[in-house]
Amino acid sequence: MYRSHNCGELRIADLGKEVTLSGWVQKGRDLGGLTFVDLRDRYGITQLVFNMDENAELCTQARKLGREFVIQTIGIVKERSSKNPNRPTGDIEIEVTTLQILNESKVPPFTIEDESDGGDDLRMKYRYLDIRRTPIQNNMIFRSKLSLETRKYLDTQGFIEVETPFLIKSTPEGARDFVVPSRLNPGQFYALPQSPQTFKQLLMVAGVDKYYQIVKCFRDEDLRADRQPEFTQIDCEMSYVHIDDILDTFEGLVRHLFVHTLGMDLGDFPRMKYDDAMRLYGSDKPDLRFGMEFVEMNDVAKGHDFSVFDSAELIVGICVKGIAEQYSNKDMKELTEWVQRPNIGAKGLVYVKYQEDGSIKSTIGKFYSDEVLQSWAEKFGAQKGDVLFILSGETDKTRKQLSELRLEMGKRLNLAKPGDFKPLWVMDFPLLEWDEDTARFYAMHHPFTSPKKEDIPHMMTGNHETLKNLKADAYDMVINGAEIGGGSIRIHDRALQAKNFKLLGFTPEEAENQFGFLMGAFEYGAPPHGGLAFGFDRLCAVMNGQSSIRDFIAFPKNNQGRDIMIDAPAEIHDNQLNELYISLNPKGN
Ligand code: ASP
Repeated sequence: MYRSHNCGELRIADLGKEVTLSGWVQKGRDLGGLTFVDLRDRYGITQLVFNMDENAELCTQARKLGREFVIQTIGIVKERSSKNPNRPTGDIEIEVTTLQILNESKVPPFTIEDESDGGDDLRMKYRYLDIRRTPIQNNMIFRSKLSLETRKYLDTQGFIEVETPFLIKSTPEGARDFVVPSRLNPGQFYALPQSPQTFKQLLMVAGVDKYYQIVKCFRDEDLRADRQPEFTQIDCEMSYVHIDDILDTFEGLVRHLFVHTLGMDLGDFPRMKYDDAMRLYGSDKPDLRFGMEFVEMNDVAKGHDFSVFDSAELIVGICVKGIAEQYSNKDMKELTEWVQRPNIGAKGLVYVKYQEDGSIKSTIGKFYSDEVLQSWAEKFGAQKGDVLFILSGETDKTRKQLSELRLEMGKRLNLAKPGDFKPLWVMDFPLLEWDEDTARFYAMHHPFTSPKKEDIPHMMTGNHETLKNLKADAYDMVINGAEIGGGSIRIHDRALQAKNFKLLGFTPEEAENQFGFLMGAFEYGAPPHGGLAFGFDRLCAVMNGQSSIRDFIAFPKNNQGRDIMIDAPAEIHDNQLNELYISLNPKGN
């Protein structure tokens, strides 16, 4: 028997018991005649004590233990004289009678404690040591619990988990595909799925009715911060549903997950139209942990000979509470430079300060009288001590810039409190997005998304402007400004699907070649259906108040898409290449 107990479970009630523990040596301390060793496993840390006077040989052996040695000990549970209230096992220690080294360890390349001294690369290279650390272990435990609770909830709702293939056909779905050469079919390739989208729709045609899968998806994107080429979705689809059925079911899932992992009831989720989200927050994933809604000002700011505003498509501002005295001229200058940074891209920043003494200070005082500026305060609900920040220019760009400023002010003023969760459904997204550079429409969600029922006639016959304004039965779930899931009611009619492909620039042949199987299935009694997918890694991170998904994935890739522990991707042998009929063009020449 390697152990009678784990390293996290012994308490004062166990005093006097003889126990066997196994684990890793976290650290040792020699205090004169006594040697202490912290023994760690997944469940916790227990202190071992060795007494030089009572057993010199054993104590000498203990002093030689290195960090991360794997040992087994037998001993008696004793009460500690100086207790450690920060540890569940902190009232007791084990007076060791037998010590056996099960395996030695090299000195680990970083400290295996809650706060590690290892940089990212080192931690990833030795990820198996990194995962020994409690914070990462806790993340893995949380993730496991979250998938268990997901299955429990969806099971009670009548969903069945169906696996769909990983080796499928390459189709454009937003990102680039990872491809896999087929040895048995020379010159042909499988693709790894970007999501099981078409398969889950086929399962609806097949009568599965309620499908889910916790599933890996693969996207060969240029890796922006915090993207992983392989990631996990909770992927779901239902038949005979309207939007409300889907929103209710999956709001139920997320509420269940919060109750059963964090013990927190999120209540009903507010719902907001995409257009309103853009107008009020300049973002389709607004962080509702703080206010600062946008106020549009074209009606009150134009016509005062201030050419910047007069020539702008949109003039829009936010009111930041209580910073008038705190924000000096220097701070304002710094903030102006912040919005002018290339990644934000504003030309300048106009502010109006309502000072505590009743005076008004503004960058545009030359053009606007105090009466006018005072009337703006009413429009914004601003009081003494508040500051308006105003941006102007082309509508979409200006909204985006102000959204960045709003989030930055939220951050600087600590308005988002840890442990605060503000969920939201964003709905009625545009169906199509026009791209000026390539002069074509793209699907805002994906090509299988249905337009809203009332928009179907406009989609079939509409001109360019009408098409731009088509709304889709598409929705995203947002928590604290992060998109954690999204989906749509799908097209289930062949003619409508064919029309959508046409609008997206597919020739009939291309559409048939790439999606003929789906459109064919629609001719055999496809039920109305819809669904969504949650980003499982992101959900884990958001629920833990963390911004990075990486530490919720056991073996993530780095920013170059590499696994530096196993050193992948890597070259393969010539004979493998030959078997696959692949000849390499070295270095892409
Ligand atoms: N397949 C979609 C995605 O991966 C989700 C959905 O529409 O259900 O984003």
